[in-house]
Amino acid sequence: MKQDGQAKKRGWRERLRAWWLRKKAPGRFLCDSCAYDWGDACTRPERPNARTCDDYKPR
Ligand code: SF4
Repeated sequence: MKQDGQAKKRGWRERLRAWWLRKKAPGRFLCDSCAYDWGDACTRPERPNARTCDDYKPR
């Protein structure tokens, strides 16, 4: 029961984050405004064309 509540909470947070990211960078790649988009700071394969990213941090 407790795990179910945690999963619901996580799902709510992920949907809110996805909504916020769409508002922050509509129609663009997240990497364009990400603090980790320089040098070797990010090695994720999605870079530089990430549309979703768990590590995204606004500049
Ligand atoms: S952390 Fe994500 S959004 Fe940021 S540069 Fe890397 S892939 Fe792009």
